[in-house]
Amino acid sequence: MNYNKKTVTDIDVKGKKVLLRCDFNVPMAKDGSGKITDDKRIRAALPTIQYLLDQGAAVIACSHMGKPKGEWKPELSLAPVAARLAELLGKEVIMAKDIVGEDAQAKAAALQGGQILLLENLRYDKGETKNNPDFAKALADLAGADGVYVSDAFGTVHRAHASTAGVAAYLPAVSGYLIQKELEIIGGALAAPKRPLVAILGGSKVSSKIGVINNLLEIADTVIIGGGMAYTFSAAKGGKIGDSLLEADWMDYANEMVEKAAAKGVKLLLPVDTVCADAFSPDANTQVVESGMIPDGWQGLDIGPKTVELYCAAVADAGTVIWNGPMGVFEFDKFAVGTKAVAEALSKTEAITIIGGGDSAAAVQQLGYADKMTHISTGGGASLEFMEGKELPGVAALLDK
Ligand code: AMP
Repeated sequence: MNYNKKTVTDIDVKGKKVLLRCDFNVPMAKDGSGKITDDKRIRAALPTIQYLLDQGAAVIACSHMGKPKGEWKPELSLAPVAARLAELLGKEVIMAKDIVGEDAQAKAAALQGGQILLLENLRYDKGETKNNPDFAKALADLAGADGVYVSDAFGTVHRAHASTAGVAAYLPAVSGYLIQKELEIIGGALAAPKRPLVAILGGSKVSSKIGVINNLLEIADTVIIGGGMAYTFSAAKGGKIGDSLLEADWMDYANEMVEKAAAKGVKLLLPVDTVCADAFSPDANTQVVESGMIPDGWQGLDIGPKTVELYCAAVADAGTVIWNGPMGVFEFDKFAVGTKAVAEALSKTEAITIIGGGDSAAAVQQLGYADKMTHISTGGGASLEFMEGKELPGVAALLDK
């Protein structure tokens, strides 16, 4: 895919102040120690930061962390990120005590080329998620009259917030390397895939993946459904699903998707068997039954062994595989078998493998297969919306080439 937005290399940043939106929303230890448990997102931002610093730009980095909803929650401070970023860059990262207040203004004004400043959590201000123009202007003003805005937070490009879209009204706006890479790889796989293109979709709900299923049926050769959402498809066919997850309102839609696949000549693979449990619990009793034959009082929590074989075979011959969403309740070991098997199959295939963010990315990483994949997206929601064919506001706001 030709990426048609301007990037950092299309604009002169030498000696300028650059407002850089990153996605530093990293997972933190739950014990309040301020320990970052996975710094992948910080590492993913390094190429753009390093390029800007090497060019002699003064970098004013910003990000959100969690959902403080306008409240100043100390446990969601970006100070631990500043410390980790400093280690990774091997240079000082100046931390602002606020976002667009006195401290940030003074530190931004004094910032020299080659230095980096990190603002506090953008979502400490309600104006961020509301895309408030005054807040966006205040952020832009930190970069001064000849400032530049660089967006590299792929994880939030599907949101029209002050720092992801609003600021582009006040500063020349271009993307960094991460957004470019994500859009070129995922966009390339959708626009001109090496075939056959196999899409594997899992997770809990049909309702959250409807747009993706619908759009991928236009593009893919095979669409594989697993996880909790498979039971709505099964029930829609008249199967017995016991206490499994069901979205009754989406049964007609499930049938429409089956019809659409048939009409388009796309293989739509649904589970042929299921591991069911007598409770939603890590140590529930289990049995394997054929799909559509789940007894009352039991619920499907993973794909069964025949389904694992079927799905892994489909992946083995693929040219490209896109995977988003677990095959079962992988948080419980007993029901992680299907998800692990798919991750392993992807690690072995010659295909181009693209892992949507979130649970599937976490599963691949935990199992140690990360370096066997072509691309692991840093944005779960963003990659899903991109695969739905939706416009991403944080990309639309950037200057065209
Ligand atoms: P999502 O947030 O929609 O991507 O779904 C991820 C969640 O789906 C994970 O927390 C899984 O535990 C859950 N999930 C996957 N399969 C099932 C299932 N068969 N029953 C209930 N939850 C499931």
